[in-house]
Amino acid sequence: SPIIEVSDLSKTYASGTPALKGVTLDIREGEILALLGPNGAGKTTFISILCGLVTPTGGQVRVGGHDLLRDYRAARSLIGLVPQEIALEFFESVINTVRFSRGLYGKAPDDAYLERVLRALSLWDKRDAKLRELSGGMKRRVLIAKALSHGPRILFLDEPTAGVDVNLRREMWEVVRGLKAEGVTIILTTHYLEEAEEMADRVGIIDKGRLLLVRDKADLMHEFGQ
Ligand code: ADP
Ligand code: ADP
Repeated sequence: SPIIEVSDLSKTYASGTPALKGVTLDIREGEILALLGPNGAGKTTFISILCGLVTPTGGQVRVGGHDLLRDYRAARSLIGLVPQEIALEFFESVINTVRFSRGLYGKAPDDAYLERVLRALSLWDKRDAKLRELSGGMKRRVLIAKALSHGPRILFLDEPTAGVDVNLRREMWEVVRGLKAEGVTIILTTHYLEEAEEMADRVGIIDKGRLLLVRDKADLMHEFGQ
């Protein structure tokens, strides 16, 4: 069964903006799903609802079988989020940053698990480095490590390569593929068609609050003659 089940999800903000209009979608365990759409399409709203940060106006979300609204803590423990805005303590070390993040989730210390996370992100050799000493790519890896610190099975990445150069974009693609190989289910948003094609197993196209279609990547490329 799907790891996330979304049915008829809608959100109208208090301002009156209808940001999502009846989105229904199953997310498969272990896949990389890219949500592709222009600015203002509703991608961040969708992710924010699935991570429990925004309350939907209508519809249902089940995460790992748990109703997100009724059984929030169980659902939330399965999820990690890499938000768009970056805020890091620049004078802290990599290892302390992820330890602290795990503590915020109320999880017991588990340095063996954190070592696995840092190794998967090629950050283990940098564990004692201060964040301010790291390259932009390494800083982004630390954000991912923070999001994985409590051991979630699902990782959301909101515009993971917005505003980065082409080399760093490719580096991030490799990092995300590596996480899939570790068994993490990944949902990312992007407004780059190329990024969706490169990284995802399935692509959902979202516009004006509606999920227009969801396709396996191969079918998408076939349909659009790429
Ligand atoms: P909710 O319905 O989830 O309570 P609100 O409409 O009350 O959301 O807005 C939440 C916050 O987002 C407010 O602080 C508001 O200023 C801000 N906000 C309002 N409009 C926008 C917008 N178009 N894009 C991003 N943030 C916005
Ligand atoms: P995307 O991530 O695809 O750019 P968003 O989910 O951020 O789209 O925004 C969808 C729509 O909802 C836009 O019209 C945006 O202005 C509006 N919106 C986003 N956040 C808020 C908010 N907190 N309050 C009111 N309107 C919002």
